[in-house]
Amino acid sequence: MKVHEFQAKQVLRKYGVPLQAGEPATTPDEAAAAADRIGGAVWVVKAQIHAGGRGLGRFKEQVSEAAIAAAARGERVDEGKGGVRLTRSSDEVRAQAADMLGQTLVTKQTGAEGKTVRTVFVEAGCDIAKELYLSMLLDRSKNQVMAMASTAGGMSIEDVAAENPDAIKKVWVDPVVGFAAYQGRKLAFDLGMSGKTVSHFTKFVAALYRAYLGTDATMIEINPLVITGAGDVVALDAKMTFDDSALFRHKDIVEMRDEHEEDPGELEAGEWDLSYVKLDGNIGCMVNGAGLAMSTMDIIKLKGAEPANFLDVGGGAGKEQVAAAFRIITSDPAVQGILVNIFGGIMKCDVIAEGVIAAVKEVGLQVPLVVRLEGTNVEIGKQLLAESKLAITPASTLDEAADAIVAAVGG
Ligand code: ADP
Ligand code: MG
Repeated sequence: MKVHEFQAKQVLRKYGVPLQAGEPATTPDEAAAAADRIGGAVWVVKAQIHAGGRGLGRFKEQVSEAAIAAAARGERVDEGKGGVRLTRSSDEVRAQAADMLGQTLVTKQTGAEGKTVRTVFVEAGCDIAKELYLSMLLDRSKNQVMAMASTAGGMSIEDVAAENPDAIKKVWVDPVVGFAAYQGRKLAFDLGMSGKTVSHFTKFVAALYRAYLGTDATMIEINPLVITGAGDVVALDAKMTFDDSALFRHKDIVEMRDEHEEDPGELEAGEWDLSYVKLDGNIGCMVNGAGLAMSTMDIIKLKGAEPANFLDVGGGAGKEQVAAAFRIITSDPAVQGILVNIFGGIMKCDVIAEGVIAAVKEVGLQVPLVVRLEGTNVEIGKQLLAESKLAITPASTLDEAADAIVAAVGG
């Protein structure tokens, strides 16, 4: 699960990670009032969406199509303003908030359609001497949490890794010993820090590690981590993702969920206990079992086409779940054909067939549908499909099914 920057900062603050004062706002007046409470002379108004690259992003309603296309590629655009704005009075805070709320921000990470800004974060302006990158994530190959840092703050770590991999410094945290001060100092020296900044940085990383463990996070990214003119260390941006399987013990984090930011299909799938992940292709897949779903996606790719989703209806799905799965697949406008590939073990083929027929009758069928059933009651299932008189192409083997659906979408 992902959260907004202001929410990640609320979490990090509890663990003692140093931050600028800041408050979220959903109206321009709230933003101005927040600035007055925060005090000072400089504020930054930041669009809150579940995507990074906001500073370089541009608003769909405010600039030309060419500028939006460039913003979606993460390029610097002269036209218009981004999603992170520097202001010098609370009136200006109000005006900049008004200019962003309700508008659609396109960044390198949102895709061309962009995301609607429903909240802004008003934060005290920071005296930036240096911008660094710092993240924490699980290194599965070492079974340890890894802290990763680079002096190229503001840049995406993927770009740094590609252009200058030596600039990325890493330390691994022993789960028994915890994050040790010497590791923080090593990282600080590797990054060229000196004086009291070294100890500020060491404390910062230690606090981040406590937050990582304490919230069952899977990733924390601070980009940029800033060294201020006074030598302090501050998290100026914060991105956190949490382990979905551990959310049951973090009610406060679950409350931060913003359903506007989630794919509607994935949300509905969650309600029906279906594992659904939207992908970029055009062949919708309905499969039972994650392994079979993976091999179905593989064979579609092998035949030269792309799956539109991963969907595992599970081993014991009923008719209603099958119908829900079908609705979710067909509501994705990118889907030009559907492949149902089910092995009836615990779940019987006739139940699947009934579910598919019910769903097709309910939502209609605008695209080709290939159904391959195998297993318990397969003959009854096939018979039901044939008797339904619906435009369903039956297939006996996975190979045949994949050929049929790829041909049907013209791929
Ligand atoms: P994004 O990564 O989505 O573009 P950031 O939060 O990293 O958003 O902000 C982009 C840039 O804006 C930062 O690299 C920093 O230079 C500047 N910035 C962000 N917050 C502040 C702040 N509170 N004070 C001063 N500058 C800021
Ligand atoms: Mg950032």
